[in-house]
Amino acid sequence: MKDGKLGIALVGLGSYSEGQLAPALQQTKHCYLAGIVTGSSDKAAQWKTKYNLPANACYTYETFDRIKEDSNVDIVYVVLPNALHAEYVVRAAQAGKHVICEKPMAVTVEECDRMIAACKEAGKMLSVGYRLHFEPHNKEAMRIGQQKVFGDVKWIEAEHGLSEATGWRLKKALAGGGPLMDVGIYCVQAARYLTGLEPVAVTAQEGFKHHPEKFNGIEESITWQMEMPDGIVAKCTSSYSEKQNRLLVEAERGWLELSPAYSYAGIEGRTAEGKMDFAQVNQQALQMDDFALCVKEGKPSPVSGEEGRQDVKILQAIYRAMHTGERAVI
Ligand code: NDP
Repeated sequence: MKDGKLGIALVGLGSYSEGQLAPALQQTKHCYLAGIVTGSSDKAAQWKTKYNLPANACYTYETFDRIKEDSNVDIVYVVLPNALHAEYVVRAAQAGKHVICEKPMAVTVEECDRMIAACKEAGKMLSVGYRLHFEPHNKEAMRIGQQKVFGDVKWIEAEHGLSEATGWRLKKALAGGGPLMDVGIYCVQAARYLTGLEPVAVTAQEGFKHHPEKFNGIEESITWQMEMPDGIVAKCTSSYSEKQNRLLVEAERGWLELSPAYSYAGIEGRTAEGKMDFAQVNQQALQMDDFALCVKEGKPSPVSGEEGRQDVKILQAIYRAMHTGERAVI
């Protein structure tokens, strides 16, 4: 803690930490960049200079557990490849730190359970990096859907795909799966936060592999259909070879569309009543500030570990349905 702000240490200085989280931490009001954990001595040197960090605020994966002694670090933010989230969240909790973990929270529900248990045991809070809960267009979509502004929601279409993926994202052992784990998770989130309801069952189909050698062991694209309570259906797609970024909701007396829906900036929304008019915000700054306030005030995070676990449970059911060709109950 410094000047009333909680210190955050970023674990893994890849593109999300470098491009989004560290810049956002220059804008936050309730937290600041207090430490880094990296396997690269070059990055450590560059970050130290760029963000004016003291030498003792830089850790490697080997020295990470010493963060326990670092009173400047209140929150550890795990920004590593998906399959490494569980280990570092558990180690962070054991070091007595509150934790933010990037999405997907982990690659299995069992890992999520271990992460939640470790934080509970340490008496520390856990949240997941779901930035869209703090984005005004998505928040308005939540309000319209959950408060039934246009009547009951009947139909949801959610698409999120990238035109390319590289590195650990193509390795099942590190990613836990393909585009579903990486960006399809936003469609699962959207269906849940639009309705405030939980999907009960799912069917899923793997898309054609144009590059089987590249997408070895993971899907190149996937389509799935979630059955929600009250007859609501959510039809979703995700891909690593086609850009997709849209959310459409049809309700009894109206509709809403966000396109793009999930980007860091430039989100646009329209409803049956016209264009949404909201300022652009720094989603990551709002998300980290919200968690810092939750920690300070001892109130629960809206994007808790349990929330992250529920998505992982649904993702696993989607893969079950895809592999068996049968309807999977969640
Ligand atoms: P990158 O590949 O850009 O960075 C990952 C970093 O993790 C690396 O730079 C490296 O940092 C560290 N690392 C440690 N072990 C390994 C390993 N075995 N293989 C590869 N990297 C390793 O990934 P991203 O930053 O894009 O993604 C990181 C996490 O953030 C993922 O879980 C992803 O889903 C999530 N994410 C969330 C977003 C959001 O909008 N909420 C957006 C983008 C990503 P170092 O060199 O410092 O050790």
